[in-house]
Amino acid sequence: MTPARAEIVVDLAAVRHNVATLKAATGVAMMTVVKADGYGHGMAQVAAAARQGGADWLGVATIDEALALRAAGDTGPVLCWLGVPGEDYAAAIEADVDVTAYSVAELDEIRMAVVAVGRPARVQLKVDTGLSRGGAPADRWADVVAEARAGEDARIWTVTGIWSHFACSDEPEHPANDAQERAFRDALAVADEAGLRPEVRHLSNSAGALLRPSARFDLVRCGLASYGLDPAPGHTSDLGLVPAMTVRARLAMVKHVATGAGVSYGHTWVADHATTVGLVPVGYGDGVPRHASNVAETWVAGKRRPVRGRICMDQFVVDLGGELPPAGQDVVLFGTGRDGAPTAQDWAEACGTISYEIVTRIGGRMTRTYVDQEEPG
Ligand SMILES: *Cc1c(COP(=O)(O)O)cnc(C)c1O
Repeated sequence: MTPARAEIVVDLAAVRHNVATLKAATGVAMMTVVKADGYGHGMAQVAAAARQGGADWLGVATIDEALALRAAGDTGPVLCWLGVPGEDYAAAIEADVDVTAYSVAELDEIRMAVVAVGRPARVQLKVDTGLSRGGAPADRWADVVAEARAGEDARIWTVTGIWSHFACSDEPEHPANDAQERAFRDALAVADEAGLRPEVRHLSNSAGALLRPSARFDLVRCGLASYGLDPAPGHTSDLGLVPAMTVRARLAMVKHVATGAGVSYGHTWVADHATTVGLVPVGYGDGVPRHASNVAETWVAGKRRPVRGRICMDQFVVDLGGELPPAGQDVVLFGTGRDGAPTAQDWAEACGTISYEIVTRIGGRMTRTYVDQEEPG
């Protein structure tokens, strides 16, 4: 079979391996975060692999994502955490999905859904400990807790969890981490005082889980590291995580360019010597960042090949340094890095962003295929 023009290859064995490795390293319950289509890896497939690797929970942002997990056959604990007024809490309750409340207003909406559905909800409460994004502000926390406790007494719901989220977990020395952990412990004390006895208390994402043992509580929420990427480059020790995503294409054309030839739109790169170039048939329409223009590298025929000129909507050009591999030759944009090819982290550094964004945005017209390598690592 002819290989695809351009494809995202996801190694599900790598996901299983990473989840199992993270679970063993942290020693608490594991929530694998599979929001945003599994960080671009395919939500249903990585969710199944994560469960096989030992994920006790799955985490997603929206109710729609949680329902998609149920539609894909997942029956285990699932938490979602981002709603707007008018959200379909009834569907979440019927699907046995844990929903998150940040406010009394949200609890009121959840209560109405419980009445409509006729069965109790599973609710987790989120407190803002300093990210200043979602979650109950400290001065509203006691009200949210009181309302949640009253709802438990009325058998409207069970408060299954209390949680928060770090702002600076990828900077382990940042003072905000201590402050947030302290604020979280204070919030837990308020909830305990009010009589709440949640199954799970959780604060850490991947970086927090790896770098701050004191903040593991009952469960950690690992997204990025589950996909084999480093959540805090320069701070983490090597756990042998394996990047699960490889993005590859086939060269559409190979040609000579003369000294002085301008390459791609705007002629932002001009050949200062005669060379050969290859045409890669993917572009920003497929999520290849335009910021990679002139800065990222690819892998062709056993060597790093720099991007020359601008990334276009459908295509870009790489420098083949005078070599003439045939059209159709494999180009790896990023992958495991094991053979010397670039990683998503390399692309992130070249583009001035984080690997989260590189893998989550890639897609467009690329096909996604799944492999299950026997021996990752
Ligand atoms: C996305 C997200 C996570 C996962 O973060 P990583 O850094 O990818 O591990 C955890 N918790 C919440 C609330 C999130 O939104």
